Amino acid sequence: MQVTFWGVRGSIPTPGPDTVTIGGNTSCVEVRAGETTLIFDGGTGLRLLGKKLATTMPLEAHIFFSHVHWDHIQGFPFFDPAFVPGNTIHLYGGNNVSRTLEETLAGQMDHPSFPVHLTDMGAKMTFNDLFEGKALELPTGDGKTVRITTGRGNHPNGVWAYRVDHAGRSVVYATDTEHYAIVDPRLLKLARGADVLIHDAQYTPEEYAGTAGRGGPKTGWGHSTFTEAVRLAEMAGVGRLILFHHDPMQSDAAVRDKEARARALFPNSMAAYEGLSFEV
Ligand SMILES: [Zn+2]
Ligand SMILES: [Zn+2]
Repeated sequence: MQVTFWGVRGSIPTPGPDTVTIGGNTSCVEVRAGETTLIFDGGTGLRLLGKKLATTMPLEAHIFFSHVHWDHIQGFPFFDPAFVPGNTIHLYGGNNVSRTLEETLAGQMDHPSFPVHLTDMGAKMTFNDLFEGKALELPTGDGKTVRITTGRGNHPNGVWAYRVDHAGRSVVYATDTEHYAIVDPRLLKLARGADVLIHDAQYTPEEYAGTAGRGGPKTGWGHSTFTEAVRLAEMAGVGRLILFHHDPMQSDAAVRDKEARARALFPNSMAAYEGLSFEV
């Protein structure tokens, strides 16, 4: 599998001179399994991925939403392939909110907030509900399949985490989640033995506790510290930890510092940055 990061920031896009290296676009990760394109979240990074995919149309892509907070859906109205007839986009999301995924995606494009409606997009779209613990299997064009298993995390209004297994390798995408006193047993189960764990590491422990001089405690906001990500990585026995969903307040230097501190605890850790791409 090939994993590529198109948006690594949490909460809100953060362009500017202090975030050039890590990048300012919000959550979007591409996982290519054989000939199958899987996309995790449609934050503003999705716009850039769309520009690349537009060079290989007609295309079929599968977008899995962790949840529908702005930073995970705002790139969708700017996803070029969605406007082109002949393309097929399968969208997957939770039945864990008061509105369906389709209603939410349409809602963010409603007048007067946006000029083009979801129904004006030319691609064929399918909307698919997810159910906890149920796996989905898709062909990858090489005689093999890719298996996507869902799990849950702790986040306001709920969140899905995903495990992707293909050709004996595995990647877990677990963003926007908080562990509280113990490592979340649901994520521990999902991440067990994975080759790569992409995990929410929005805060340093000091930021989370409210002692970093930037606002109060962040308990209950639904995000993790890098130390919690490390704890899960250690307990689950994963090969590699990718720190993800960086706080908008963190400059390039702050993210690099967070990365160095994580590495001291779990050597095979690194901070996600826009353009990071590797083979699993
Ligand atoms: Zn988020
Ligand atoms: Zn969120």
